[in-house]
Amino acid sequence: IKDKLARSERLAAVGQLVASVAHEVGTPLHSIAWHVEALAEEPGVTPAMQKRIGIIDEQLNRVVRIIQDLLSSTRQRKPEPTWYPAERLIEPVVALMEPGYHAKGVTLHTAVASALLVWADAEKIHQVLVNLLSNALAATGAGGHVTVAVTIRQASSEEMEGASCTGRPDLSTVVTLVVSDSGCGMPREDVERAFQPFFTTKAVGKGTGLGLFLSREAVSAHGGRLTLESEIGKGTTVTVVLPGLPSDSAVA
Ligand code: ADP
Ligand code: MG
Repeated sequence: IKDKLARSERLAAVGQLVASVAHEVGTPLHSIAWHVEALAEEPGVTPAMQKRIGIIDEQLNRVVRIIQDLLSSTRQRKPEPTWYPAERLIEPVVALMEPGYHAKGVTLHTAVASALLVWADAEKIHQVLVNLLSNALAATGAGGHVTVAVTIRQASSEEMEGASCTGRPDLSTVVTLVVSDSGCGMPREDVERAFQPFFTTKAVGKGTGLGLFLSREAVSAHGGRLTLESEIGKGTTVTVVLPGLPSDSAVA
């Protein structure tokens, strides 16, 4: 499963690259297409010129189709959230990560409030938690501690906004998944940069610089939020906020 996750992070990396190149190339292509069309209508265009314009137009359409195919084949699957028990969201990830923690002498604590439901696409949120726990492990030395805490609280008014546009349920409660470590922390200027695609301080081959970027994307696509606070020498805390409910709630 760990290999599978690493592979999907790499695939997502390729996808991001293709998507951003395709996006960049798209704008000039549209401009070319527009001008070719206008050129065909200019007065004094000879049949020979008309023929060449036709070829340019044909080939241009071909390039556009290739890019569209590339884009649709690499696009990230949209999350399909359901009401998912919080424990089942955390347990498999902890089971997966525990051996690595044990080997390094870092203690992994969990504090998951019981009987909570989270609005989550389990596969996607598993990947997010694996990213966060591997970052935490990488930042923490032997004897250090990492904690995963899951709790429910009232949503702030800001958090209640924008529910309709993401298909997220409109609720007054949210569940927070907090991963905190007692590791090295990050310099202030890295905290924002850390979310940029391909930003990494890890050695070549050790990091893709996509973990935080993709994790934030995935959480946002659920209508949630991912934030990071860090202090050099003290450690880092990442908070994932998702719509959540007590499992005895009538809404679910
Ligand atoms: P990667 O792990 O591949 O480097 P990420 O997007 O997951 O990419 O993280 C980007 C960078 O943010 C890391 O290289 C590291 O410098 C920093 N970072 C992320 N999480 C932590 C953490 N828990 N503690 C310290 N630094 C972190
Ligand atoms: Mg990472």
